[in-house]
Amino acid sequence: MELAVIAFLISAYFVLFAALLGSFINLAADRLPRGESILRPRSHCRSCGRILNGVDLLPVLGYLVRGGRCATCATPIGMASPLVEAVCAGSMLAAILWFGVWPGALVGLALVGGCGAVLTVLAMRRGTEKRATT
Ligand SMILES: [Zn+2]
Repeated sequence: MELAVIAFLISAYFVLFAALLGSFINLAADRLPRGESILRPRSHCRSCGRILNGVDLLPVLGYLVRGGRCATCATPIGMASPLVEAVCAGSMLAAILWFGVWPGALVGLALVGGCGAVLTVLAMRRGTEKRATT
């Protein structure tokens, strides 16, 4: 294989990985403030309890395919999830374009990790504020 092809495949892999990390960040930011486990149960619709399948869990694409709604009960999913996933994938892509595959991928991971930490802390604070007023 040509070097350019390999570089492209590695870049695509890291961008996809960043999007999946974004998906996990959404999960953590959603569950941690409620004191729920981020490992169990499997991702499900908060409204009807349907376990999400492969299509639902595709970063950004899943949201577009489902039209932003749960496929079973049509409850709107909200823009936050695809937005976080797109921002993570975008940060990784920008870092790789800017710095090259290496150390771009490393910079991208740091950016995504930073995003995740900030979003989760913000969600936790929002969670405690809500609890404090009710
Ligand atoms: Zn549902």
